[in-house]
Amino acid sequence: MFIEVQDLKQEPFYVRHVFPIGEIKYSHEDAGLSEPVVADFVLTHRDRDLHVNGTVETAIRYRCSRCTKEFSKAFNVGFDLTYLPQPKWTNEDAEIALKYDEMNIAYYDGIALDVNLMVLEQIELAMPMRFVCREDCKGLCYKCGADLNEGLCSCKDEETDFRLSVLLEFRQKKMEK
Ligand SMILES: [Zn+2]
Ligand SMILES: [Zn+2]
Repeated sequence: MFIEVQDLKQEPFYVRHVFPIGEIKYSHEDAGLSEPVVADFVLTHRDRDLHVNGTVETAIRYRCSRCTKEFSKAFNVGFDLTYLPQPKWTNEDAEIALKYDEMNIAYYDGIALDVNLMVLEQIELAMPMRFVCREDCKGLCYKCGADLNEGLCSCKDEETDFRLSVLLEFRQKKMEK
């Protein structure tokens, strides 16, 4: 979905658009979008400077990176952005650009706003770096694969015993020399 700036006549311009599953190309090895993405926003502009304020709503299905169980939950993010026509970059501009990033300023080609890209970017920015079912998820035993959230498996003690016996053996050999 593109919004051509020259076509914008009356404003504010209200947009509510539902993207079917798969249209917003979010991808992550541990997560995906499990419901259509609803974008709701108001667009105002002054010349070619656009101001967009709204929300993106969907649901994510994700796999906990520790215990590998699947979970799904509602996802929504609010945003408030100013889009400026893409300037021609020079080295001196680089520093200014960095400052602009912190002020919710983004760039577009000055002709049309790519709404799919905007929505995708908002989703990516709001997603966590790692997907866990809960902060204190204990994960799986690396040896037997038991879910440690459901109780301890018997591997842990064996492992300690094994290390201890190696250590004792090592000491014994040293003493023999
Ligand atoms: Zn987990
Ligand atoms: Zn185990």
